[in-house]
Amino acid sequence: MVKKQVDVLILNSNETITIDSPDTETGLGIIDNGGVAINKGKITLAASTDLLERKFRARRTMDAEDQIILPGFVDPHTHLIFAGAREAEFQLRIAGASYMDVLRKGGGIIETVNRTRQTSSESLFQSGKQRLDKCLESGSTTVEIKSGYGLRDDDELRILRTIQRLQKYHPCRTVSTFMGAHAVPPGETSSEYVLSVIDEMLPQIARAGLAEFCDVFCEQGAFDSAESARILGKARELGLKLKIHADQFTESGGAEIANKLHATSADHLVHSPTRQLEKMAETKVVPVVLPSSSLSVLTGENADARSMLTLGLPVALGTDFSPSNWMLGQLTVAALASRQLRMKASEIIRGITINAARALGLEKRVGSLHVGKDADLVTLRVPSHKWIGYTYGERIVDNVLIGGEWVVRDGKRIP
Ligand SMILES: [Zn+2]
Repeated sequence: MVKKQVDVLILNSNETITIDSPDTETGLGIIDNGGVAINKGKITLAASTDLLERKFRARRTMDAEDQIILPGFVDPHTHLIFAGAREAEFQLRIAGASYMDVLRKGGGIIETVNRTRQTSSESLFQSGKQRLDKCLESGSTTVEIKSGYGLRDDDELRILRTIQRLQKYHPCRTVSTFMGAHAVPPGETSSEYVLSVIDEMLPQIARAGLAEFCDVFCEQGAFDSAESARILGKARELGLKLKIHADQFTESGGAEIANKLHATSADHLVHSPTRQLEKMAETKVVPVVLPSSSLSVLTGENADARSMLTLGLPVALGTDFSPSNWMLGQLTVAALASRQLRMKASEIIRGITINAARALGLEKRVGSLHVGKDADLVTLRVPSHKWIGYTYGERIVDNVLIGGEWVVRDGKRIP
């Protein structure tokens, strides 16, 4: 047989997790002693090493012995662009203050808004770049980023433009979400502010093509369900896709709005009523569960991921990286999902790959090693996929490729 030339061959992995042609036991499509052929940035084939060696020769071959290969992780929920940190507030929470109490007193999100407004676009871009480098080193190849620390039109636009600049100059794939309705700015009533989001910010952002999604913090002390529905309704009219911070601290009607408006995802869902979760099976809203965020607010409450899985919902997992939850790694989320949510390795792996891609409407492009998809993948130094969620605190990411190009080698970002 004449061997076909490809750009890259990765061979001899313990397991290649394709999440394609799912085997019945795990739904992961595992190939033992397999690998991947990549050409022109796309997956040409994921198959056994034997078959790949018979079919292809490559400009570059990598031996993935003692490693497993997976699709690059997708992080469907971050607040990655902001200035400063809130380590002092975390000490207050440890001492018993609640997240919403701190916010009501002008701390929390508002503290970060004040610092972000005073920070130059260049410095927001530089810190964004460093954080995206960390995402890559922890295996994430696609990351959603929300605005929401500007809370007035010029600053919200400035943050979205920073995300746009990162999209252009950083190899990590990013998805931009406008979240002007993250908190009510000091000195304004929520009804005044909702009007400025609807009449001023959203039309400008839609016109400039600065965001793919619109998100709202639907919660007591932030935006109620009527306000959230008005903002998201307007965003949909303007052609944006929808997300919502739903039922994080109280049952605030967020999941219901997500179902009514056919949002792409509903995130948090800690206090969502069962009937709304059941509806998601029909409305195709993707539930995004954020166990590290639940851990950081120190309420001891978690979303009921097991019930969602029993309902057959495609549960996605994300970091919810923000100044109140400083953590960028989907493998850390995996360790929490196994221990706090009792998710199995196979459920977690789908949660940080294909289901997270669904939460961003990117499931046709990334999230599995399906032939023709973008060649975004990660290799981990572990014996099998069952180590995901089992091991934690250990650096196991070895190689990360985006579009067939190496961005991380030996666990380190390649400059
Ligand atoms: Zn969030």
